[in-house]
Amino acid sequence: MTDGPATDAPEPAPLVHGVASALSPLVRRIVADNPGRMTGPGTNTYLVGIDEIAVIDPGPDHPSHLDAIAGCGGDRIRWIVCTHTHVDHFPGASGLKERTGAEVLAFDGRDGLAVDRTLADGDAIEATEFVLRALHTPGHASNHLCFLLEQERMLFSGDHIMNGSTVVIRPPDGHMATYLGQLERLQGLRPRLRSIAPGHGHLIEQPAAKIDEYLTHRADREAQILAAVRGGTSTIADLVASIYPDLVEELVPMAEGTVWAHLQKLADEGRVTGGDPAGRWAPA
Ligand SMILES: [Zn+2]
Repeated sequence: MTDGPATDAPEPAPLVHGVASALSPLVRRIVADNPGRMTGPGTNTYLVGIDEIAVIDPGPDHPSHLDAIAGCGGDRIRWIVCTHTHVDHFPGASGLKERTGAEVLAFDGRDGLAVDRTLADGDAIEATEFVLRALHTPGHASNHLCFLLEQERMLFSGDHIMNGSTVVIRPPDGHMATYLGQLERLQGLRPRLRSIAPGHGHLIEQPAAKIDEYLTHRADREAQILAAVRGGTSTIADLVASIYPDLVEELVPMAEGTVWAHLQKLADEGRVTGGDPAGRWAPA
């Protein structure tokens, strides 16, 4: 979904699938060939380090993509880390492990991901050249991790923050208040951030502006939903129709999920009543 204002104009050169591009002295990116409405140009796979490499988000189980990653990092790839267990981010892990012998790390082994080691908030991958610190950032997915590359002050944000598309928050695994709390936490890290490397889209070079934009966008959306409920719109389907008037059919379930997540937050705060996503919602 592309309903948020972009702050990172002008756009750099288009992302090319399967070719490694250097983003910084320590970081390279290979974009998987899985473009789509939810994935933008495709999933970003990052290779962090030179002598010892951590791969962040192996992406889909596409042999050509995994060959490109292995071709770039070879047996210097020691860790394969997944930001979360949505299908555009992790299924390549086992094939990449077969190619490289690296260990697979994630918050947990949900959705069929086989993990060798779990990571909790604050855990670090310590290589000779860098430290990559895990931040547990639930909201988009309850098992979502961001990673901070301390040497370059680069935050790998997975689907917590993306560039060019809006993050979908779908209950029950997605949770709006939790998501916003984790955005505020990242806002607090801003002095330590130079850039954000998202799971989809280009590198974000103004992290503070992007996080502010996200928080403002969500606050605006929440106000819009609350006003509509107060105006008598009572079902999620009708709220989606009024708030996203030109939405393509394929994205309706995502919009419904996000509206539900906003309503759930408003209900928890005592501002609306309702609970059943298929039922009626009313002002409190
Ligand atoms: Zn994704």
